[in-house]
Amino acid sequence: MATRGDRHLHAIQLARQLAALGARLKTIHLVTGLPPRQAQRLFFPDARAIPRGRAPDSAEWYHGANLILRADACLIGAKYRQLRSQGLRAGEALLLAYRAYQAVTTRPCRISLDRAFSLVSYIDGIWLARAPTLAVLMCPDCGCAFLAAVGTVAQPGEACPFCRLLARFDQDHRIQASYPAHPTVDMTARQLGMLDLFHQLKLGAKGDNPPE
Ligand SMILES: [Zn+2]
Repeated sequence: MATRGDRHLHAIQLARQLAALGARLKTIHLVTGLPPRQAQRLFFPDARAIPRGRAPDSAEWYHGANLILRADACLIGAKYRQLRSQGLRAGEALLLAYRAYQAVTTRPCRISLDRAFSLVSYIDGIWLARAPTLAVLMCPDCGCAFLAAVGTVAQPGEACPFCRLLARFDQDHRIQASYPAHPTVDMTARQLGMLDLFHQLKLGAKGDNPPE
């Protein structure tokens, strides 16, 4: 059984990794339980380095975001949901889902750790949220997991963000540049490669966790 010391050490380690990814003190506090002042003392010796400004709130943001941002949010949300269903705790699942997202996208990442934290809060109804307002659904057309308002039923032909990305892929250089993991000459192969990438991210939970 884990001792108090074990749990505290674990909280510190998680906090350190969140801080390294640019998390705000409030995010670190809510995820790990470490008091903000302690997190500041431990990880932000230079007070000027503390992330400031308005924290992102994703309750409504997702529905109004552009296509690439929504696809990014879906990548994070789907990975988080999958890791949670495998029994990971929320903080670990957030950290690993964010790293999986970082691994497939261009830098600087379009979605911050704080934004990802907010998104998964609304998926699980924890931390910032009192109840779930975002659900992870499976698209009947492309098979990708995507986010939608709780209560939405995925219907064939309604085009999830990934269906839309794929439909626009060969005309839209921004989309091509945003997911550069599979550079090939043939556009159809690139499209398939991108879809493959999304499926890998959705399905490949085991063995792809980056080293600590
Ligand atoms: Zn789809």
